[in-house]
Amino acid sequence: MNLTLGLDEPEAALRARACEAIGVAREHLRDLRIARRSLDARRASGGGRHFRFVIHVDVVVEGMPTGETFDGASRTGRVKPLAPPQQLQLAAADVAKRPDRVVVVGAGPAGLFAALVLAESGVPVDLIERGGELRSRGRALAGFLNGRRPDPENNLLFGEGGAGTYSDGKLYTRVDHPLSHPILETFVACGAKPEIVFDSRAHIGTDRLHAILPALRERLIDAGVQFHWNTQVSGLRFHEGGGARAITGVETNNGEVACDAVLLAIGHSARDTWEHLLRDGVKIEARASQLGVRIEHPQALIDAGRYGTGPEAARLGASYYGLVCRAEKGAPGGHSFCMCPGGQIVASVNTPGHLCTNGMSNSRHSSPFANAAIVTGVGPREFGDGVFAGVDYQRALEARFFDEGGKDYTAPAQRASDFLKGRESTSLKATSYKFGVVPGRIDLLLPSTVRDGIARALTAFNRQISGFASEEGMLVGVETRCSAPLRIPRDPDTFRARDIANLYPVGEGAGYAGGILSAAIDGAAAAQALLKNPD
Ligand SMILES: Cc1cc2nc3c(=O)[nH]c(=O)nc-3n(C[C@H](O)[C@H](O)[C@H](O)COP(=O)(O)OP(=O)(O)OC[C@H]3O[C@@H](n4cnc5c(N)ncnc54)[C@H](O)[C@@H]3O)c2cc1C
Repeated sequence: MNLTLGLDEPEAALRARACEAIGVAREHLRDLRIARRSLDARRASGGGRHFRFVIHVDVVVEGMPTGETFDGASRTGRVKPLAPPQQLQLAAADVAKRPDRVVVVGAGPAGLFAALVLAESGVPVDLIERGGELRSRGRALAGFLNGRRPDPENNLLFGEGGAGTYSDGKLYTRVDHPLSHPILETFVACGAKPEIVFDSRAHIGTDRLHAILPALRERLIDAGVQFHWNTQVSGLRFHEGGGARAITGVETNNGEVACDAVLLAIGHSARDTWEHLLRDGVKIEARASQLGVRIEHPQALIDAGRYGTGPEAARLGASYYGLVCRAEKGAPGGHSFCMCPGGQIVASVNTPGHLCTNGMSNSRHSSPFANAAIVTGVGPREFGDGVFAGVDYQRALEARFFDEGGKDYTAPAQRASDFLKGRESTSLKATSYKFGVVPGRIDLLLPSTVRDGIARALTAFNRQISGFASEEGMLVGVETRCSAPLRIPRDPDTFRARDIANLYPVGEGAGYAGGILSAAIDGAAAAQALLKNPD
C-alpha cells in the first residue's frame, strides 16, 4: 500500500500509518518493509511546494485481517496480497535441462547476471568478453583522454561491466519484473547501498560501481565461471543436422570454445559482431531507435526548476528530470534520456573517427553540472530500408560530428537559445566534457527530423524548467547510442533465437533491454528459461 511521510518524519511513523490504513492492531503487525520510495515535489494548488515522500510498503500481519477498513482497502486495490519473492538461482526440481557447458558472450549486466543464474544453478559457464578487467579498462580510458586515440576493445562501451561501468548507475526501469528485486539485492550484497532496493531514483554512481564489480566477479569465480578477458567472439560453429541448426561452439581470437548453448549479450555497440552473426545465418531485423544530443545546465538551474528556492530545496540533493514532449500532428516529439544529476558528459566511443556523447556521475552527484540526452525517434523513414541502415545512419552522424569538432574528440556545441534561433554561438559556456567543445551549428549537423524534434522538446521543457532552453543550456553532440537499431528475433517464452535451437540473444544488443537493470533482468530471465525448458 502507498503511504506518505513528511521530509522530517521518522520512518517509524509508517508502522502506525500502515495499521490505520488496513484496520489492524499495532501488536498484530509482524513486519513492514519499504518496497518503493519516491519524492513528491509537485506544486500544490496554491502554487507553493509541499515536499513529501510517497512510500509503498509491504507488511506481514498476524492472521488474515478482517473488518470494514481492510475490506474497503482491498476493494479499491489499495492493498494487495504479496507475490512470493523470486530467486535468481533455480531449485534443482525446477531445472529441466542442465547443459554441460554454456558460453555467455559479453560481461555487461545482461551477461553477468545470466552467468550468475547459470553458475549458481550448477552449470559450468565460460564468460567471454572482448574488453579487459576493470583496471586495464581504466588504463585504456586514461590513455584515450591523454592521447585522444580510443582503444577499440577497451573503452567506455567494452570491458568488464559493459556499457554502464562509467555511468550514473541509474537503476530505475519501466519494467516491473519479479527478478528486479533479487538483482538489486545482489548489488547490495556486493556493496551497493541498501536504499537502491526501494528508492524510485536509485543510482549507484561510477565510483561505487567500481567497487561492486570486483565483488560480483569474485562471486562468479567462486560459482565456477571461467572468465576469458580480451577475447572477442568472431563466429559461431554449427552442427548441421536435421531440424533446427544447433551451435557447437564459438570462434574467438584466442581459439574455439565448445559449448551446448550460447547466451549472446553483446550490447548496442558491437557493430562488427552483428555483421559476423548475420554472416553466420542469425536472423537480424532493423528496428526504430532514438538519437539526439546531450544538454548540460548548471545543476542549480535544474534544482531551482524542480524544487524551487525555498529552504527545503537545499536538503534534497541534486535534482533529476525526465521530460517528454509528444509527437503531434506530424511534428516529431522528443524526450530526455539518461539524465545525470551532478555529472559529466563523456565520449562514449569505441570506433576511431566517430564521436558519440553520453553521461556519467559519481555516487554523490557532486559536480556543478546536470546533463541529459534530448532525443527523438528515428526509423526506416529516416534511415531507409536494410538491416544495417540504422547503424549506417548512426555511423554517418558520428563521423560528421567528429569532423566538425576538429577530428580529435573535441565536440561541436551550441547554446540551446542559439539552436532554436538557428545561429552559431559566438561564445560557449564551460562544460564538463573533458575533450573540450567548439562552436558548431548542431541545428544544421543533425537531420531535419531530429533537429525539429529536439527544438519542439526544448521549447516544451523550458515551460517546465525555467531557463532550460536559454543560453544556459549547452547542447553537445552527438548522442547516437541510446538503443540498438537492430533486433535479433527470439521466442518470447523460451528466449531462443529463431531457427537456432541453442542461441539466446539477450540484453540491449539483441533489442530487449534499455538500461542496466532491464539488461540484467533480461539476461537472468533468459538463463532461467534455458534451464527450465527442455529441448
Ligand atoms: C556512458 C554510459 C552511461 C550509461 N548510464 C546508464 C545509467 O545510468 N543507467 C542505465 O540504466 N543505463 C545506462 N547506460 C546504458 C547501459 O549501460 C546499457 O543499457 C547496459 O549496459 C546494457 O547492458 P548489456 O549487458 O545488454 O550490454 P553492454 O553493457 O553493452 O555489454 C555488452 C558487452 O559485450 C561485450 N562484447 C560485445 N561484442 C563482443 C564479442 N564479439 N565478443 C566478446 N564480447 C563482446 C562488450 O565488450 C560489452 O562489455 C549507460 C551507457 C553508457 C555508455
